[in-house]
Amino acid sequence: MDTEVVESPLVRDCAPCTQCCEGWLNTTVFGNEMKNGQGCPYVCPTGCGVYEKRPYDPCQGFKCSFLMDEKFPLWMRPDISNLICYSDEINGMLFYRAVETNATLSARVLNFITRYAIDHDLNMAYEFERKLYFIGSPEFIAAMTEGENV
Ligand code: SF4
Ligand code: SF4
Repeated sequence: MDTEVVESPLVRDCAPCTQCCEGWLNTTVFGNEMKNGQGCPYVCPTGCGVYEKRPYDPCQGFKCSFLMDEKFPLWMRPDISNLICYSDEINGMLFYRAVETNATLSARVLNFITRYAIDHDLNMAYEFERKLYFIGSPEFIAAMTEGENV
């Protein structure tokens, strides 16, 4: 299985999406925990209210797959699809995480993301109806299902 992720230039801008600031990625910014849809206190309708001061981690450095890969169509923009996909790593293995946001994924979105993993021979951990599913190598699936890794 080829899990190499090739860094490529951004192919798009975020606007008007702000989904990664809205509490679906379980992270902390400026000491504020973001999880279960509780977003950053600085997100505003025009984007980031503290754009010039936003930290590298988790803000500036985060690039979702929609931004990086032109194979993601416009309807897969996270604020439209309710899915944030991004690259991650476990035990030295690269994989994609596909996180369901504030609504259940449509069949179209679910089909796109699973086909994306299968057609490109990728390791993928994706959510559907708040449950986690895996596509990929036995080593990846074992790593993800051991202990607290999920
Ligand atoms: S989820 Fe992706 S497109 Fe949306 S704001 Fe974050 S990086 Fe930009
Ligand atoms: S500081 Fe800005 S970019 Fe970072 S999570 Fe908050 S709104 Fe988003």
